[in-house]
Amino acid sequence: MPEATLDLIGCGSMVVDVFYRTPRIIAADEKILLQAHDRSGEVERRQVGGLVLNHLGWASILGMETGIFGKMGDDANGAFLRRGMDRFGIRQHLTLDGSASSFAAVFVDRHGNRAIYMCRGATGELRPSDVRGHHASFIKRARWISTEISQLPLRTVIAILTLARQHSIPTVLDLDLPPSDACALLGTRAEFERALRLATILKPANAAARELAGRTEDPLKMAAKLRARYGNEAVVLTAGAQGCAIVAEQVAVRVPAFKAKVVDTTGAGDAFLGAMVAGLRVGLAWPEVGRLANAAGAVCTTQLGAFPDRPELRSRIEKLYGGKLGTAQQLPKRASGATKDTPSAERGGLDDDLANFFDLCLKELGALRAKLDLAAIWRAADLIRAAQQKSGRVHVTGVGKPEHVARYVASLLSSIGTMATFLHATETLHGSLGQVHEHDVVIAISNSGNTAEICAAAIAIKEHGAALIAVTGDQASELARIADLTLTAPVEREGGRLGLAPRTSIMAEIYVLAGLSVALESARGLTVEEYGRWHRAGALGEAARRLAAARTAQRD
Ligand code: ADP
Repeated sequence: MPEATLDLIGCGSMVVDVFYRTPRIIAADEKILLQAHDRSGEVERRQVGGLVLNHLGWASILGMETGIFGKMGDDANGAFLRRGMDRFGIRQHLTLDGSASSFAAVFVDRHGNRAIYMCRGATGELRPSDVRGHHASFIKRARWISTEISQLPLRTVIAILTLARQHSIPTVLDLDLPPSDACALLGTRAEFERALRLATILKPANAAARELAGRTEDPLKMAAKLRARYGNEAVVLTAGAQGCAIVAEQVAVRVPAFKAKVVDTTGAGDAFLGAMVAGLRVGLAWPEVGRLANAAGAVCTTQLGAFPDRPELRSRIEKLYGGKLGTAQQLPKRASGATKDTPSAERGGLDDDLANFFDLCLKELGALRAKLDLAAIWRAADLIRAAQQKSGRVHVTGVGKPEHVARYVASLLSSIGTMATFLHATETLHGSLGQVHEHDVVIAISNSGNTAEICAAAIAIKEHGAALIAVTGDQASELARIADLTLTAPVEREGGRLGLAPRTSIMAEIYVLAGLSVALESARGLTVEEYGRWHRAGALGEAARRLAAARTAQRD
């Protein structure tokens, strides 16, 4: 079976940054004592970094499936980097045969000035033949590839970009060094020029853009000049707190930055790039891609270091951006044909949106089925049946879309012989608690489990003495904490371009509660006669009565 495709595969700088605090940055022949980072006395602090690994980290937290290939040393720094990759689910296609894994010693003084000593080690040892031989099959799994002009030899960058072109995989080239440095350290000027022409999207650092574009200081003009020169699908320039400039086919936009409480700007450009690819993957148009990428850049500046320090940063990016990112699963397949056309083709048609949504539903429900706790559903059924023995009834409640689920479930349960009524969540605090008896069971539905109205109602219900079953996507939520028993119905993505309207979460709630109704129906031993008796009208009632009559005739 072919291996799954990955949204973004990267190759290039992956570095352990080792931070030291020093009273000042010293000159040659001087000595100085290092200081502790904090009260724990820690002097040496290690962080995962390197611009390509950072791209992948930020793309991963935005839901992209990512991978990395290249060379490392079989050493402690390499193991540290791989643990960082594992934390974010970055698939690895690495050989450990390099001289040393790449690291940087970073000395920071109390004013934030830095002196950085870098060892590119194994990254500088990756050869074109390694790319074309050992890594080719992994590369072919990519929908996007990111690479850099920073640590890799230029010939290796060319091999990666060429292979990507041959397989119609669009590429982003992060040009971190100006040509004067790149050509002195990594290869020839001809190789440098060739690499830039091969990239689908070129993202030069400011110093590099200035050296290439001549005198102009205006990012939009610089980007336009570079695009005209190298023929890229797009050229994207970031400008710190000014935001970014994007020039592409029929597009020339400046997108302003978001306001950020800056802690450390290291790696903001890498976060920007990771989010930019994520935006392109879900089919956003360029101005939206710029906004999303700016949001990631801004969030990156609020943490120490360049690699995302926790997966929850996604919600902060989406909050700034003002919407949820769509899903990798709902994306259009890679467009076939020329590499140049791919990003526009990936904007996806309406048909893709629809087909991807239906696929997403199956995936979400499939994942939920795999982790369903059937024992918990039986415990819920037992709780309800025990309440019924004391003449207790069931009430079902929810706020927003789950309110409609609550109405449906109350009706469903009643139809199979479990007396159930809908309970209005907000009315609960305004008198409707009177409909609940202390022997009753209330089922409260909330995807987040933290909706204020439902939590307030849940507390009142518990204080009233009734039992509470929570149905929620978050086992650690407030509602789950209050409830006697929790049935979890988590989903990763709601579907649709915005990913906001409750869709799959509602299906998950119905899925779990319809299952509970099956458990109750079986435990009760519901007969077709009973079912028919409660369905006096309609096709269902008629079908049940016909079935009952046929069974009676058979018995006779
Ligand atoms: P690099 O890390 O490559 O130097 P920049 O400093 O240009 O990149 O930052 C990349 C992106 O991060 C910017 O385009 C912007 O969206 C965001 N960003 C960077 N610095 C700030 C800041 N001070 N305030 C808000 N956003 C910022």
